[in-house]
Amino acid sequence: MLYDAERGVALLGDEEIAAAVEVLRSRSLFRYYGPQLLGKADAFEAALAQLVGARHALAVSSGTAALECGLVGLGVPEGAEVIVPAITFVATVGAVLAARAVPVFAEVDDTLCLDPASVRSLVTERTAAIIPVHLANVAADMTPICDVAQQHGLAVLEDAAQAIGVTYGGAAVGTIGDAGIYSFNLEKNITCGEGGALVTNDERVWRRAARYHDQGGQFVTSTGRVRGDDTDDAFVGTNLRMTELAAAIAHVQLSRLQPMLESLRGYAHEIRGRLDDAGLTWRRIPDEDGEGGDLTVLLPSRRAAWSFVRDLRKNGMPASMFYGGRPVYANAAVATGATAWGSWDLRPDCPRSEALAARAVNIALGVNMTPQTLDQVEHAIREAARAGRR
Ligand SMILES: *Cc1c(COP(=O)(O)O)cnc(C)c1O
Repeated sequence: MLYDAERGVALLGDEEIAAAVEVLRSRSLFRYYGPQLLGKADAFEAALAQLVGARHALAVSSGTAALECGLVGLGVPEGAEVIVPAITFVATVGAVLAARAVPVFAEVDDTLCLDPASVRSLVTERTAAIIPVHLANVAADMTPICDVAQQHGLAVLEDAAQAIGVTYGGAAVGTIGDAGIYSFNLEKNITCGEGGALVTNDERVWRRAARYHDQGGQFVTSTGRVRGDDTDDAFVGTNLRMTELAAAIAHVQLSRLQPMLESLRGYAHEIRGRLDDAGLTWRRIPDEDGEGGDLTVLLPSRRAAWSFVRDLRKNGMPASMFYGGRPVYANAAVATGATAWGSWDLRPDCPRSEALAARAVNIALGVNMTPQTLDQVEHAIREAARAGRR
């Protein structure tokens, strides 16, 4: 490879190590009590809420856990329909099913994110929520999506697992709908190995999510310390808590986010600008000022896309199709229509998204790029585009 396409994980350094060691030395690895509790999870939540401009943040064990908490927090009832985009990571679907709701697949448009018109056409009296996914550091076109939600009284839960730090119209993704989630898995913008967070401005959503993630309020309410010990709206939950170690690392990584995205955005703008004359169709980016650095090309056909990938890889570029060039309902597990406790009615019907998934090629950028790598990237893409025209 010409360069390393990693993001936050490439920036893990002495500060993260010091933060982890500090927690180990305190012997207080659990967020709610310990011999010398440092309050790392609390501090991380406060810092995250401030960074994205949300009233509340809840740190949890993964992005998937955050989605599940979000659906519970929003009060999505059992059996309700939740609209998700046909192109996304399998976790978006799995979390809806884990929350005992039913995923309904909507088309994406040339942003590769939810198509608001498709969402509108899928709304039924059973629809409770919409999950727009901000795919690969590009915000979905939230204004028309939120308009549809508002017209039909639907909740919007933003899946910003792949886009923490990205903005749309000046607002951080995750804070535009009723609630939003981030992931700190190893592959995301910033990482603590495994981790996630829910953000919301709605105190009730936050309170329900917090209760759910902590066994129905096992520790927060028994100590009466953090989130009050009110007993209205009580229910049994599960354990999706974040550890102090993860929170300490994620907190340091937060400080790396904005400079990192600024440079990645700069690289993407520079390369797309230089390739203005190369006859390529780029994915539509609703807000280029807020993107997190995307290079995604829409080729004319599946065949052209695969040969574009091959040519780029030959030149050392980390190029790939999203999820093998197929919609999420083609994922082997999703396609079974089975969950661990029964089956659900999978209705895979997004021909436009299938075609787009087969034509979209993503070139990952990395934080350690240099002016010389930019030249090489420009050259490799130009060559692959030229080969495709022959
Ligand atoms: C990674 C990801 C998730 C899940 O995050 P985890 O932390 O891996 O559980 C959810 N949605 C999308 C779109 C993702 O890319």
